[in-house]
Amino acid sequence: ARARAAAAAALRRSGRGSGRGRAAPPRGRSRERAPPRGEAPAAAPAPPPARHLFSEPAEVEALRRNLLAWYDRCKRDLPWRALAATEPDADRRGYAVWVSEIMLQQTQVATVIDYYNRWMQKWPTLQALARASLEEVNELWAGLGYYSRGKRLQEAARKVVSELAGRMPRTAEELQKLLPGVGRYTAGAIASISYGQATGAVDGNVVRVLCRLRCIGADSSSPAVVDRLWDMANVLVDRSRPGDFNQALMELGATVCVPKAPLCGECPVKQHCQAWRRKLFGKPPPVPDVEDCGVGDCPLCLPATEPWDSSLGVTNFPRKAAKKPPRAMRTATCVLERRGCHGAPEYLIVQRPSSGLLAGLWEFPSLPLAQDLQEEEEREQLADHLQAWMGRPVAAKGLQFIGEVIHIFSHIHQTYVVYSLHLDGDVTLDPALSPSRWVTEDEFLASAVSTAMKKV
Ligand code: SF4
Repeated sequence: ARARAAAAAALRRSGRGSGRGRAAPPRGRSRERAPPRGEAPAAAPAPPPARHLFSEPAEVEALRRNLLAWYDRCKRDLPWRALAATEPDADRRGYAVWVSEIMLQQTQVATVIDYYNRWMQKWPTLQALARASLEEVNELWAGLGYYSRGKRLQEAARKVVSELAGRMPRTAEELQKLLPGVGRYTAGAIASISYGQATGAVDGNVVRVLCRLRCIGADSSSPAVVDRLWDMANVLVDRSRPGDFNQALMELGATVCVPKAPLCGECPVKQHCQAWRRKLFGKPPPVPDVEDCGVGDCPLCLPATEPWDSSLGVTNFPRKAAKKPPRAMRTATCVLERRGCHGAPEYLIVQRPSSGLLAGLWEFPSLPLAQDLQEEEEREQLADHLQAWMGRPVAAKGLQFIGEVIHIFSHIHQTYVVYSLHLDGDVTLDPALSPSRWVTEDEFLASAVSTAMKKV
């Protein structure tokens, strides 16, 4: 009974009354019509069962203590952590954390470190980044993927400098409201790590950890579950060390509570983990006077259609709706080569449009192809396309087929059909077309080109 009362109180505090994740109506708009005479008022929806909540203050305290002690012992030395801990200037500190958070979206820590160091060396302040050109940003970002991140980071830095007098917003609410490209997670991370605001930060690692700690098996990308996880993160975050706590939760997800083979034996919070207990005991732990969710229609439990699978253990959690398969695309691309003035080969690269996939990056002249074309048709179309660049006829037969390169973007399965063409004599490029230039191999590698083009 105590657990249920505490759960209900926690829900009241969070302003969410519905166990199905529906938010309570905002203040001032909460007048509801009375039920027609003779009808009983609708019953208040039941709160989620206590096993999906952290409703005992003593348990919250213990989890914070155990997690932070582990973090102090085991955290990885990372350049942005050093800056967050030592940089006395608040705007520089916020900027340093912001850059790391944007780079870390969809990208592994090990890949980011080198990019981060080079970035901070080149643009140690918001003002320095605001003065950079987009070309420079793209060059440094080349190979990191999801290129719009770098562009938006620079746009946002320009906004801070020109509209906010170079002062970083200090709270999660303001960060999210004022900075383009800063979403709820990034805002929470910057505000807690740089400015000590006691606010949660829920990224993919945290989703996994929280779903396991509280046996949340409903679709973890659904709005109801996302809301619940944010509520939980805001309840759990340590009031005196919010930045360390959020980083500790993420670190746990990245190094111990990993997706496929979590190291539960080494986990500092295993005594608080419902998934681990369920694995040990083979069934949900007994919680006094609380409905045995999973049997009823609990909106947070594993769905009845895909129940607990004992061969998966704790990795039963989290569950996600199946992703749409990536779209298949074919693109013909041609490596045009000429002898440069010093005899070294040079290659033609052209700039992509300033919006859309790989915006503003450089590539070999390329042409998206319809599916199911015959090889001859592909070749003819590419020859016509090249003719526009070079202002002179290009014989399809002169294009030498080299091979195919596959590159997976997040939502596109891209096949590049690669041809090459050696040119004799000078070629005048049409300046009315997109920007283009001849580069040596070294210049190509130092240019703002995508990983896919480097593979080509
Ligand atoms: Fe994750 Fe295992 Fe720790 Fe639970 S006990 S939080 S499943 S690593």
